[in-house]
Amino acid sequence: MTLADQMRACTRCPELAAVRRHVVVGSGPDRARLVVVGEAPGAQEDDTGLPFVGRSGQLLDQLLAEAGLPRSEVAVLNTLKCRPPANRVPTRVETANCRPWTTAQLEVLAPDVVVTLGLSAARWFLGKTTLTAVRSRVHEVEGWRVLPTFHPAAALRGGPQGEPMRVLREDLRTAVELVA
Ligand code: SF4
Repeated sequence: MTLADQMRACTRCPELAAVRRHVVVGSGPDRARLVVVGEAPGAQEDDTGLPFVGRSGQLLDQLLAEAGLPRSEVAVLNTLKCRPPANRVPTRVETANCRPWTTAQLEVLAPDVVVTLGLSAARWFLGKTTLTAVRSRVHEVEGWRVLPTFHPAAALRGGPQGEPMRVLREDLRTAVELVA
């Protein structure tokens, strides 16, 4: 059974497994220089089985393309593979349950750089912190080079001229330069 098949069969979080439509394993190539990590699937991701397919995903695609690396060459995944009901914040237990899957994915993908989107994904790597304290810098974490930045949803909320959009664009450009 492949790693993806094992994840699709996972029921470690009974509440999530009971209501999910899909286990959103991730998208992209089997090995990737750049991996982008978000928090958890939303409604559209649960419907389609693919990560970052809504407005946030469209913005991510656009900014990656602007930076010179098409989304098709980037592995995109979430720290949690199943949608929490009503998009609530994942519990500590759920995050811990799913952690070995994400770790296994990263080991297979073997990226040069991991970009985390939003606070939750940053904390998955760096522990309790704030985005302000860690964003836009590369951190060495257990052999991975991790670059935290804003979530595209925050960039959309801040508008095209807002600080989160500017930072997200710059950080993705930096990440693409690092893996070039
Ligand atoms: S969130 Fe992760 S650990 Fe929990 S049921 Fe889904 S795949 Fe399994």
